[in-house]
Amino acid sequence: MITHSEPSKRSIEESIILTLSGVSSVGVMPFTVLRFMQSDWAVAFLDLFAVLALGSLFIYVYRTHKTELPARILAFLSMFIVFVTILLKGIGQLMWIYPALTAIFFLLPANIAALYSISILIAIGYVLREQLTLFLTLEFYISTIATLLFSYAFSDRMRKQQLQLTELATKDPLTDAGNRRAMEQKLLEVIAFQRREQNFPASLILMDLDNFKKVNDEFGHAKGDDILKVFVNTIKNRIRSTDKLYRFGGEEFVIIAENTPLKDAILLAEELRSSVEKEGWLAKHKVTISVGTAKYEPHETAFEWLGRADRAMYQAKELGRNSCCVA
Ligand code: GH3
Ligand code: MG
Ligand code: MG
Repeated sequence: MITHSEPSKRSIEESIILTLSGVSSVGVMPFTVLRFMQSDWAVAFLDLFAVLALGSLFIYVYRTHKTELPARILAFLSMFIVFVTILLKGIGQLMWIYPALTAIFFLLPANIAALYSISILIAIGYVLREQLTLFLTLEFYISTIATLLFSYAFSDRMRKQQLQLTELATKDPLTDAGNRRAMEQKLLEVIAFQRREQNFPASLILMDLDNFKKVNDEFGHAKGDDILKVFVNTIKNRIRSTDKLYRFGGEEFVIIAENTPLKDAILLAEELRSSVEKEGWLAKHKVTISVGTAKYEPHETAFEWLGRADRAMYQAKELGRNSCCVA
């Protein structure tokens, strides 16, 4: 069943930015009050700036759900505030560098965060050169570099795991084509785009391997699996990189061709059908496909669009298989 994803649900990136900006904005508030009471004006205004800037960022992300630019701004703000605090108040404020270091690894790609951190550490070392003894300098750099390395390893591992999870959640493990979930997601995106922009027609090409049960029965299930894999490779080599291939069911596959008018989709479908026919993967059995093609019609749901492509594909079966029909 194709459902719309919930718009109110917050992404992990959003939650991270909201937590960091919210907690630090509220966390700096008591210090701001304290500095004003102590008439420590420079730091008081810096803290006030931090509370307002971090608070505004929180509200912006809360309202707009945007994360890319806010993440960069937050990374910059946290480093800027810590750096200026250390510049104004000296060595006593050095411990604020640790939360700032870990925060930027949550906010930026690991390599950029590492570059950023190293520049800040060098700048702090320079600013504090007269207050830091040799021993303190060593302690400062060893402890901050250790924090940096742990944060780097953690961030890098998180990113790799995220890539693996996305791959697992969107790919068919046998053929490496997109899976049904990815196809449904893509259909919703394409339809949302089609509702705004009608000048870039999109087409669906639904392909079903003919008499595949017979292939399994005669050559074995493992050979059937191999055929599915080489079939996907053949199709992938013939479509454009913007056309996406998905495994819709057992031996049924769908191409979502964006920015493709019906006449081009029909040509592509015929080209795919004939190239599969010519392959000769099995000695005593010609593997063929039946294909249904459908252009997106305004106001259609994904279900209706797929349904029309499916009916066209069944028409091709009725014509005796190894043929193409158009909805
Ligand atoms: P038609 O031409 O009408 O499509 O006939 P068909 O035999 O292809 O259609 P049917 O729907 O009766 O059977 C589909 C077959 O595809 C049955 C099933 O065993 C096989 N199949 C589905 N998924 C896989 C798979 O992952 N691996 C293998 N080897 N076979 C599969
Ligand atoms: Mg079939
Ligand atoms: Mg089938």
